[in-house]
Amino acid sequence: MLDNSIRDGSLSRFRRAVVTGGGGFVGSYVAEQLLDSGLDVICVDNFSTGHPSYIEHLRDRPGFTLLEADVTEEFEAPEGIDLVLHLASPASIPEFARLPIETMLVGSAGTYHTLRLAHRHGARYVLASTSEIYGDPQQHPQSEQYWGNVNPIGARSVYDEAKRYAEAMTVAYGSKFGVSVGIARIFNSYGPRMRPDGRVISGFVAQAVAGLPLRIHGDGAQTRSPCFVEDTARGILAIAASDYQRPINIGNTEEVTIHDLALMIRKVAGSSSPIEYVAADEDDPRQRCPDITLAKQELGWEPQVPLAEGLRRTVDDAVQARRSTNPGVST
Ligand code: NAD
Repeated sequence: MLDNSIRDGSLSRFRRAVVTGGGGFVGSYVAEQLLDSGLDVICVDNFSTGHPSYIEHLRDRPGFTLLEADVTEEFEAPEGIDLVLHLASPASIPEFARLPIETMLVGSAGTYHTLRLAHRHGARYVLASTSEIYGDPQQHPQSEQYWGNVNPIGARSVYDEAKRYAEAMTVAYGSKFGVSVGIARIFNSYGPRMRPDGRVISGFVAQAVAGLPLRIHGDGAQTRSPCFVEDTARGILAIAASDYQRPINIGNTEEVTIHDLALMIRKVAGSSSPIEYVAADEDDPRQRCPDITLAKQELGWEPQVPLAEGLRRTVDDAVQARRSTNPGVST
């Protein structure tokens, strides 16, 4: 359930939301919180990186509809839509490598088509952007005023530049057509259901639970500020509920080095996995921590789940998933 940190007016003015990427990690939590708040949800996904199992628990809930579609093509949704949340996009380095053109297109054509949908229906629009638009930041912590330090042709550029384009397109649609637009600059999120491939926390959790070495890319001194996914989803919906039209950082300010993160996860999992160092990822940011002053001021939003608790919940989920796929395994 959404708590009262989302300010008055909240989501009760909306009846029916489109969530693109609703069959993915963050989108499945957003869809669930919307249903909990009494909205109908049309989840639009092509399952290029998500999976139907992520929304299995939502399929039979009243008001939930799945529309399998690729949002890089124009699509129509049922009448009565008053909120469009555009979350569809690959979101990890291996996926950018596997789906480079698709990543660029979902941020460009996908943003365009979803903005057109919001315009046609007179709906409020929220874009899921990313802290990656700050690149390898030269300002710390990162506030919304910072313009970023992005390599336009690096390993992450298909994602970073698509999201920068998406932000520009969203702001342009707001100013030219008067569409009510919001932009969530989401920082690293984690939690149950996150795939291990290419994502630092879920990767460490899977390795720790399986007794495999925890593989740190680079020297481990780089920092992240992981945000528990339920907090991220609440933040996205707080932006939806507001009338705020500019980008807002959604993230946790509890900054930790990758090395310390590996140690914490190993401890929570009760694992004796060794720690291994492998080559650094190209253009891996050295520091990542949001300034969330604006989110507190404009939305009354801030994260509620401390890192230690979020990690425990993520590890518990991974242990359960491992037991159910490998009955008899001891973890
Ligand atoms: P995810 O891969 O789990 O979910 C994305 C979903 O979008 C998937 O279900 C995928 O199948 C769907 N999708 C991709 N291309 C599509 C297309 N063309 N048409 C229809 N559906 C399509 O990723 P996630 O971690 O849940 O990320 C969700 C959003 O949040 C993304 O926009 C991402 O950029 C943003 N974000 C996530 C994080 C994070 O830490 N997870 C951080 C910053 C921003």
